Amino acid sequence: MKVQLLDLAAQYRKIRKEVLSEIKTVCDSQHYVLGKNVSGLESEIAAYCGAKFAVGVASGTDALLLALMAAGVKAGDKVATSPFTFFATAGSIARLGAIPLFVDIDPDTYNIDPVKLEAALKKNKRVKAIIPVHLYGQCADMAPIMKLGRSSRIPVIEDAAQSIGAAYKGKRAGSIGDMGCLSFYPTKNLGCFGDGGMVTTNDPRLAERLKMLRVHGSRVRYYHDEVGVNSRLDELQAAILRVKLKYLDSWASGRQRNAKRYDTLLRKAAIKGVLSIPFIPAENVSVYNQYVIRVKKRDELRAHLSAAGVGSEVYYPLSLHMQKCFKGLGYRRGSLPVSEAAAREVLALPIYPELTPAQQRHVVDSIAGFYLKP
Ligand SMILES: *Cc1c(COP(=O)(O)O)cnc(C)c1O
Repeated sequence: MKVQLLDLAAQYRKIRKEVLSEIKTVCDSQHYVLGKNVSGLESEIAAYCGAKFAVGVASGTDALLLALMAAGVKAGDKVATSPFTFFATAGSIARLGAIPLFVDIDPDTYNIDPVKLEAALKKNKRVKAIIPVHLYGQCADMAPIMKLGRSSRIPVIEDAAQSIGAAYKGKRAGSIGDMGCLSFYPTKNLGCFGDGGMVTTNDPRLAERLKMLRVHGSRVRYYHDEVGVNSRLDELQAAILRVKLKYLDSWASGRQRNAKRYDTLLRKAAIKGVLSIPFIPAENVSVYNQYVIRVKKRDELRAHLSAAGVGSEVYYPLSLHMQKCFKGLGYRRGSLPVSEAAAREVLALPIYPELTPAQQRHVVDSIAGFYLKP
């Protein structure tokens, strides 16, 4: 039996007709940039996330970049964030000439540790923004993070690229911080047919600023108050996303059902001492962009699974403070030990909504076969 890590074709088969019809409508209109599909999707995503405004941009990476620019982050400023995330989180900070201030993570949720964040803010001057990352589909512990942001007047930018629809204490990702950044990269829970992203906010001034920054810092065409970028979501992607958004809740339910099934199967397999299942605190609802187990002998398990036809992936094998491009920041091996240990032990299993119970049993049997073989 083959179990791919992700099967986008299975999803496409179900929505193909609707999507192709919307693509045709856009092509027939010949209106490709900042038209009614983008503004329609912006309203729909804002409502979905429980935020007042949403601004479509070219990617999740650009969402982060523009949010940092809108927050006024400048070269030489520091931005506190997690070292255990996709590169874009820190890359967008560095692109502005700002300095990532990496704060170690909680070992159970893999999200930024608010206690360590508080200590880092005390020690460092010039921290001009905080980017908590909602990794794998569940929110960071936002209550203490927002408290720290408010008391030190530092804007909080949620990296919600992996977590559209996730909830924390009843609020959805993207509605908790000053701004929220979404990605529509194909492997995200709401993926388009290329690159796309969005910034959510409740602040009308930030929304205006973001709209200006995405069109070269211009409010009135050909007049530029500041230097922005060219970063827009296009009509074709927006039209595709509007079709897919209608299914997002049912897909999230499918992921949650599959996660529960893995939880049960893995507990029953009783692989003691070498494997732990994802931890979701009571205040969180995860949308499981990834189902990530933590294991001993991870790389050997991964090879074993691959031989059994089971796809898996390591998100992420090298903590960002150890990346070559950040050598100049002065971190060393051992600087952020929780993140470094996670990078050695995490493994993402197939979790997409169309996965069948038989496929999940095969995944768990294969894992059990590796650890429990006589
Ligand atoms: C995917 C992702 C991004 C970047 O999104 P792109 O659309 O690929 O630019 C940023 N942060 C995190 C945590 C992500 O997973």
